[in-house]
Amino acid sequence: MKLILLGAPGAGKGTVAKILTAIDGSVQISTGDILRGAVQAGTELGKDAEGYMKRGDLVPDSLIMGIMEKRLQEPDCQKGFLLDGFPRTIPQAEALKVLLAKLNISLDMAVSIEVPREVILDRLCTRRTCENPQCQAIYNVKSSPPKQEGICDKCGSAVIQRDDETEEAISHRLATYNEKTAPLIGFYEKEGLLKTVSGTSSDTVVNELKSALGL
Ligand code: AMP
Repeated sequence: MKLILLGAPGAGKGTVAKILTAIDGSVQISTGDILRGAVQAGTELGKDAEGYMKRGDLVPDSLIMGIMEKRLQEPDCQKGFLLDGFPRTIPQAEALKVLLAKLNISLDMAVSIEVPREVILDRLCTRRTCENPQCQAIYNVKSSPPKQEGICDKCGSAVIQRDDETEEAISHRLATYNEKTAPLIGFYEKEGLLKTVSGTSSDTVVNELKSALGL
């Protein structure tokens, strides 16, 4: 499958992507994970992106398109991909359209996952992430804590609260989403690719998508 997952931070894009990729071997491509990996590794990209990310601002489109142009041409994308957190602005969506046409790839759908704001705020404040850039497993202190507090079940690294998941950064990220990313819903509606799914449970969202995709 070749999908774009749209939705505010905390809407469950990453969780939905993990369940769907396990079905058909598509890859999850999260620009947020790629950027956090680059920050931890101290690469040029990471140094350029870090300040924006800490503030909850978007990283410039040119940096993101540089990442995606390379990533979409890697061999594992041939089985399909789920784009999680990309595109995030109209210029990124337009650049992606050109890139996909050049690579002769067509998208199946752009899915907008809609979740009430109170649920999102609660999820993000209680979310914790494995700090190992190769793992980045997600936990929730209330609903799915690691077995041993502060330690990742999968790789044993520390589980931390992200710098951009303080209350201040979260409200800034949500405002940025409404201003810059929500307009993509209209963009993909015009392209005839939009599918809107509402649900606070990832299982409900996944089931609806499976039937829409005939899986
Ligand atoms: P995420 O994990 O998707 O919430 O992304 C974390 C942060 O990485 C965002 O708040 C942005 O600073 C940056 N980021 C991730 N994806 C993008 C993108 N497509 N465009 C611009 N910035 C991005």
